[in-house]
Order: sequence, then structure tokens, then C-alpha cells
Amino acid sequence: MEAYTIRGHNLYRYRWVTKTYGDGGSVTYEELAGIETLDNGRKYLEAYLAKALGLPSGSTDIELAGDMVFNAGIAFTQARKEWLAWLDHAFGVTYAWASGAGIPAEFRTFLEEAEKLTGIPAWFLAGLIQKESDWNPLAVNDRTGCFGLTQQHPDYWPERARAAGFDPERDKWNPRAQIIVGALYLVSLFDARGLEWEGDGWKNDSDLHAALARYGGYGADVVGAKPYIDKVVTAAQAYRTPAVWPVPGTGRGDITSYFGMRYHPTLHIWRMHNGIDIAAPEGTPVVSVSGGVVTTGYDSESGNFVVVRDGTYEYVYCHLSRILAVDGQAVRPGDQIGLVGATGEATGPHLHFGVKKLNTNSWIDPLLVLS
Ligand SMILES: [Zn+2]
Repeated sequence: MEAYTIRGHNLYRYRWVTKTYGDGGSVTYEELAGIETLDNGRKYLEAYLAKALGLPSGSTDIELAGDMVFNAGIAFTQARKEWLAWLDHAFGVTYAWASGAGIPAEFRTFLEEAEKLTGIPAWFLAGLIQKESDWNPLAVNDRTGCFGLTQQHPDYWPERARAAGFDPERDKWNPRAQIIVGALYLVSLFDARGLEWEGDGWKNDSDLHAALARYGGYGADVVGAKPYIDKVVTAAQAYRTPAVWPVPGTGRGDITSYFGMRYHPTLHIWRMHNGIDIAAPEGTPVVSVSGGVVTTGYDSESGNFVVVRDGTYEYVYCHLSRILAVDGQAVRPGDQIGLVGATGEATGPHLHFGVKKLNTNSWIDPLLVLS
């Protein structure tokens, strides 16, 4: 599929995959396999602005408007940086808010592919990406020119991208290429398959530390690289903690309504259901699936609700009979935050659990986070 976006002319490649769940069920769907950006986006942005604002193309007004849009993008990135700093502050420890739940769903298959190729666990690559780019595929280091999720050096990118089967130009902003090339470079620096990833031994492994020092641009200076290494290890350890099912004692079999269009049980109209419903008796404990900071509230539709925010998503828990967390509280996966109820628009006691991208209205299927 081809599409012109504000960033340029993009080519989206999809593939069919079938996933089988532990309970025997399976689902087949088209999955994003890669994005290639074919051109520099600025000329498409200016063409769009010329049309949208009715200004003559090539005028200084168009250039000015283009700069304003780009600056707004930078301000958005800055706001995100401040939010991540606030999360660190709330926990008192860098990256302690992270967990497997917060690995962005759109990158998961790329991480799994990189793990199969290199033997480096997906959760470790997640920690590396958190430190390198805060999960921003468009991140560019103004000083070094390093770019993308895994901060590839522009001097070495062409050769490494080609060696991995990518086109250095077209795949520069392709998140799959950035992840695979980064993982292949890291694994060229140490024996990942020989490392004991199961326990805690990897944290202090001198070969891994030496490899990270090189990856981080510190060369052979492992001592000088220590703050960098510590951050990658801390983030990796946090991402290693998997997402927790939100109602302990229940499972997929207790889902009474899935994510997607449905005939609404009380409103009697077809409507988007932006989460999943899990049936459970009133008073059953509800736990946080992720790490993050809590906000609580009430409205007539959601009833008593809790929102937990990490660096990637907002996790929303609705219809609670009681809220057992307070605004600003820092929680880890598995911490109790409320009790199942039927407050708000509900036909009976259940948890409505929703997941959306941080600070947006883009809801995703919560099962992508929970699997
Ligand atoms: Zn619901």
C-alpha cells in the first residue's frame, strides 16, 4: 500500500500471520511488516499547506507555515521528554515505570524477529531502544547525526543496512530496519547466544558491558560508559517484567465483549467498543497490568475509573465498585488498584479494560498488550 503523508511518500508492506493462543483459539490478520519512506517529507508538507491554506506554492508564507508545523512537532517531543522525566521522578528510580506492557505493539514483531536472528532477548532490545531513542523512530541526535529507534550512525548505516538486506536510503526511517540493523550490530560485538539471560548474571557480564560501551560510542572505555550501561540494564530489567492479566483468577474465557464494533447492550446501537470486558463477581480485585502513575475519576458512563500511564500507553480500568489507588501513585505490574463493580453504564459486574496511545485518542486492542 502506498500513501502520501505529512512526512513523505510512504510504502507500507503487510504480511498475513496466524497467531495461536494457549487455549487453542487462533486469529489470522494482516500485520505491518515494514515502512519505507521514499522521499523527503518537506515538499509534501509544503504542497499540503499550499492547498489547505490557499497560499501560492513556493512563497515565503508556505515556508513559514512549514517551519511552524515542524516546530510544533519538536514541542510535542519536548512535552514527551518532560513526561518521561516526571515518571522517573514519581518512582524515584530511572525507568522503574517501564514494563513489558509498554513495548509499543507496532514494534513487537520486529523485536521478536531480531531476537530470533541474534539471540538477544526482545526485552533487552526494548531497554536499549528506550535509552537510545525513547521509542521515537524519527529521533535524530543533533550532535552526532545518529538516527532512529536504535540510533544508527550515518557513516556506518549504509553498509550495515545493505548487509541486513535493506536499502539504506528508502529504509532509513523504517522501524523494522532500524531494529534489525541495531540488533545485528550489537550481536557482532559479543556472543549473545552464549550469555545466560535467564537469571541476573547478564547484568554484570563483562562481555555485554564491553559491547554496550562500543554500541554507545564509548569505544573501549567501559568505565566511562558505566552511566550509559547502567541505564540500558535498568531499562531492560524493567521491560523484562511481563504484562499482568488485570483480573487475577479470570482469563480469556471470561471476556464477554472484545475490542471492535459491537451492538451496544444498553444503548441498542452499533458502536465501537474501545476495550475488552472481563466478567467477574463484584469485589474481585483488579490489578495494574503495567507500571505507571495513577489518575482516578468518575463519570456517568465509565463509573469509578482508574487510569495508569507509562511512557507508551494509558491503561483504563472502568466500572469499579471501589478505587484502591490515589492520584499520583506509582504502581508496578500486579499492584491492586480497585475492585470489580458495575458503576456507570454497566449491565452487570465486569471490568472494562482499555488501552490507548499516550495523550491521543488512538485505542488499540488490549489483547495486543496482554499477549
Ligand atoms: Zn466495555
